[in-house]
Formats: sequence, structure tokens, C-alpha cells
Amino acid sequence: MAVSADTEAKIGWVTPAAAWRLCLCPASASHSGGPHKPAPGPVENAGQAAHLALQSWIESRSFIDRPESLAQSFDDACTSAGVHVSELRNGRMTRARLVARGTQLAALLASAGSGADITCEEPLADASRLLWGIPDIVVRGSRTMVLDLKTGADAATDVSESVRLQLLLYSHLFRFTYGALPAVTAAFSLAHGLIEIPAQPEAVDLAVESVIAARHATGARPSPEGCRHCPRRFACESHWAAVHEGDLADALEGVISESATAESGLIALRISSQASKHLVTGISDETIRGDVAVGSHVRIVRALQLSSSERQAMWRGGKTTAVEVDPLG
Ligand code: SF4
Repeated sequence: MAVSADTEAKIGWVTPAAAWRLCLCPASASHSGGPHKPAPGPVENAGQAAHLALQSWIESRSFIDRPESLAQSFDDACTSAGVHVSELRNGRMTRARLVARGTQLAALLASAGSGADITCEEPLADASRLLWGIPDIVVRGSRTMVLDLKTGADAATDVSESVRLQLLLYSHLFRFTYGALPAVTAAFSLAHGLIEIPAQPEAVDLAVESVIAARHATGARPSPEGCRHCPRRFACESHWAAVHEGDLADALEGVISESATAESGLIALRISSQASKHLVTGISDETIRGDVAVGSHVRIVRALQLSSSERQAMWRGGKTTAVEVDPLG
């Protein structure tokens, strides 16, 4: 099914990486722009450095002559970014995994034959369905493959439903571009190696249809998985209604009645809402948008509730907690 002009205006292009969120909640969709190669950004974590290393290792053809050099490429990517491996969270572990998996990945790529065309981070697009994405590796040779590198917490023994949908959509983009599905559709996990997923035509078609159907759906559908990292979270009233109903357990809002800064620099806030009082500790000021002045309305997401009593609920902030003061302007 092709996409109508109305849908194009409303949602625009969708990437496989964003498709899962769109399927979970149509209201969470955001424009991704059309097919393009993003400019390289700063290296902020080990996964980004590993992807840069992979790209350089493949484009320089080092995977053929020096398959063990993937870890060296990782060091080089870190050096170019001005960081040491040890400064990145999970940097040393990711490097060790690249040492362990480099030759395995090289052997997999070699199985496509010596004349295979292997590209890394090249956009593929289906303009008739407004789908586009950038698979980590595309292989066209005696064996065709679409591979997605998994480096961190997502490097599990099985792939999640979101990664499965992402891979099926990459397979579709490969088919749309080259005329046939890849023989191998897989995640390559640095922890566990190749995790192939079944990508028969029916499964790929179903994945594409689910995204097209989600484009035409309307309304907000709050859920813990969908809302957790949704960029619309602070302003989405359907989400806040679900928080008040107790359906989402990692968010709270109210009026700041007290704020204090510990010796560690972390901030604690006392917050009053109509229903209860809250004490939230361990908030990093880097995660706060706005001025935490007494009397201000505040919304906090991705916090952990430690306990709750009639007197007050106790919460702790973490690395992913975000705070917005006066979110409604
Ligand atoms: S916050 Fe939740 S309900 Fe609101 S748009 Fe995002 S995913 Fe949907």
C-alpha cells in the first residue's frame, strides 16, 4: 500500500529504528526527515565508537587482510574522538568483545565470496511507503545479508520485538532496492555472535503492513515501554493521566515545596501533588530543565519509586532521569 499525501504531511518518513515506537503509540511519531546520511556526531558511548570502528574496518577492507584489527579500529575511533577507551562506559568490555568477535564477523563476511559488495551505514529507501533506514552492514555476493551490530545491553541471546521489527524492515528495504530478500537477516551481537531471525516474505510483508497501519492510526496509547523514552513525554497529557491512574510507575508531578543540594552535588526535591507528597533524591542538575524554584510546577520521568506510605512516597533519580520545571509554560 502506498502512502497518501495526508499521511506524508502528518508523519513523513519513518525509519526502522522509529517504527516500533510508532506501532506502540501513533501519537509518538515524529518526522525523521527523508533518506540521508547523518553527519558524524560526537562519540558519547562505546556503542557509537564500535559502529565507527566497524565502518572503518569494512570500508578500508581490513576485515579481509587483518580481521583481528577491529579492536584497533575501535581504539582509533576513540582517539579521533578525543576520548580514551577506559573513559567510555563499558568501553573496555566492548573492546574485549570486539577482539573476541572480529574474526567471526570477518569469516561471516568472507562467506559471501571474494567479489562481494559490502557496505556499511548506507541509506536504503522505499519512497512509495516513505520508509528508509541505515542498516549497519549490507552484503551482496554469493550470499546476501543485512546485519545489525548490537554492542551493549541490546547484545542479548535473542532479539527483542523492537529489534525484530527493525530487522524485518531493513530486509524489506533491501528487497525494495535490490529486488530480492537477503538470504540472512540478523543481529550480530558482540556478546553472542550471529542471531539470525526468520525473514520469510510473509513476515516481512506483515512488518511493513504494521507500520503502514500505525501511520493511519490516531490517538495516544500510554504504555511503560512506549512512554519510557518518548520525546513527547513531558507535554503528553494522555501520559500524565495514565501516571495519575497508576498505570505508569516511573513518573510524578507536582509543586516543588523544598529543594536542597547534597555535598555530592546531587539535588533533592520535595514535591506536593493533590494526592500525595514525594521526596525525590539523587537528581543530577544536568538532567534538569528549568529553575527548581519553590512553588514551581515540576514533572519528573524515569525515576525509581523506592517506597510509598500515607505520609510520602520516596523516589530516587538515576542516570536516565529527566526533570522539567514549568513544563506547560
Ligand atoms: S508519552 Fe506515551 S502516550 Fe504520549 S505520545 Fe509518547 S508514547 Fe504516546
